[in-house]
Amino acid sequence: MTEASKRTGSCLCGAVRMTETNSSNKVGACHCGMCRKWGGGPFMEIDCGTDVSFEGEDQITIYDSSSWAERGFCRKCGSHLFYRLKESKQHMIPVGLFDDQEHLVFENQVFIDKKPSFYSFSNKTNELTEAEIFEMYGSP
Ligand SMILES: [Zn+2]
Ligand SMILES: [Zn+2]
Repeated sequence: MTEASKRTGSCLCGAVRMTETNSSNKVGACHCGMCRKWGGGPFMEIDCGTDVSFEGEDQITIYDSSSWAERGFCRKCGSHLFYRLKESKQHMIPVGLFDDQEHLVFENQVFIDKKPSFYSFSNKTNELTEAEIFEMYGSP
């Protein structure tokens, strides 16, 4: 693994820093009701897989948001740090945390049928409804 294929980021206050090596440049957005409650709007994230490491881990508070996933945030500044699947330990990290915002592609929107009507992204992306997601991944 070379330096170039690492992606680094931090929370707003800098107490928590993360490094991930998956290096996908694909950005997804989730419009589900839980994500919108959590962040006040759609959750825009990079699927960073399981190879994610944190500095300042003692500053991370974990919220047990469902039977299948948990959500981490910085206890100092409140920045959202990840949505993590409990079983696979797969991390979806908010795209805005990363230091480098270049070369990213907005590729997927999920729970598109849960999106409220007052906003829409004009980007051309793949879109999945709740029913299509549960068909692909099984009901949670
Ligand atoms: Zn912070
Ligand atoms: Zn969601």
